[in-house]
Amino acid sequence: MAQCVFCKVAAWETPSQRVYEDDKFIAFLDINPVNFGHTLIIPREHYANFIETPEDVLSEMTKLAKKIAPAILEAMKAPAFNITFNSGQEAGQAVHHIHMHIIPRYADDGHKQWHGRDRYAEGEMGATAKKIKELIK
Ligand code: AMP
Ligand code: ZN
Repeated sequence: MAQCVFCKVAAWETPSQRVYEDDKFIAFLDINPVNFGHTLIIPREHYANFIETPEDVLSEMTKLAKKIAPAILEAMKAPAFNITFNSGQEAGQAVHHIHMHIIPRYADDGHKQWHGRDRYAEGEMGATAKKIKELIK
């Protein structure tokens, strides 16, 4: 028996409304959607988060999103969508099996994205960019 919620979905131990599946991926409706049609793409294989997921799996998920998102927009008559990966608990990741959210959006639908809430002090922006740049491997 799978332990992880999305491993259970993949194994049909938990029911899901699937919109797409192949030998490596499943796309299914989020049970608690921001808007109807909110879809999750998962690999069948378990990886905890974005950092843990191999590059080729991430690229394939993006390719799939390119295929599935237009269908969501058309089906839900949505003019726009957000793609989100929450990676880590502090970022709101509740299920620790990588998943991509595709969220159909409407004008004034009430869903709050982030708004810039901080300002760099003089010199801090350059120092921050430098720090990150030096750590890219
Ligand atoms: P996150 O907060 O990024 O980890 O998102 C997890 C998402 O999974 C949430 O939006 C939940 O509503 C959704 N979710 C949790 N369990 C299920 C399930 N059994 N079937 C479909 N969606 C689920
Ligand atoms: Zn899992």
